[in-house]
Amino acid sequence: MKIICIGRNYADHAKELGNDIPDEPVVFMKPKSALLQAHTPFYYPEFTNELHYECELVLRVCKNGKYIQERHASNYYNGITVGIDFTARDIQDECKAKGLPWEKAKAFDNSAAVGKFIDITPGMNLKNINFSLQKNGELVQKGNSGGMIFSFDSIISHISNYFSLNIGDLIFTGTPAGVGECVVGDELEAFLDDKSQLKMEIK
Ligand code: MG
Repeated sequence: MKIICIGRNYADHAKELGNDIPDEPVVFMKPKSALLQAHTPFYYPEFTNELHYECELVLRVCKNGKYIQERHASNYYNGITVGIDFTARDIQDECKAKGLPWEKAKAFDNSAAVGKFIDITPGMNLKNINFSLQKNGELVQKGNSGGMIFSFDSIISHISNYFSLNIGDLIFTGTPAGVGECVVGDELEAFLDDKSQLKMEIK
């Protein structure tokens, strides 16, 4: 499996990091070794001094495909949850300044924390999904899928022009504003509506 991530998919977050609003999805990947399952501790990596959380909606791919048209895209994912795209922001800033790839900042071990999936049902309004992140019990990020620049279906269609999608792949769909630092001892808890899907401690 692979983990495909979208960057700058919420205008307010693009702005907070000083980035332009993209005219096509910003895409990067994390390897399988980046996956951190729910209820597993996260160990603060030794190579960074500025670890950030980015709470995101995550889709689970359920069908293999390539060159998927947007109008068929909803057949290719069947589960949704919240996840945390852990980012070594200091390393990412260095990479960006040098024009280098981001992998060291974004794709390290356990950098893709994923909550418990819920099945997508036909009645679900995917354009109005609330999600949020609490740090030590305090609300730090709040988003709604309606605020995405690129919808789930347009993301699937776009990325499938470059990468075949396979059953079990995960797609991180971008973070809203409010990203910030976490340190050893912090507890992070992510919610879909008001249901807790992911809870972890930074160790
Ligand atoms: Mg992200």
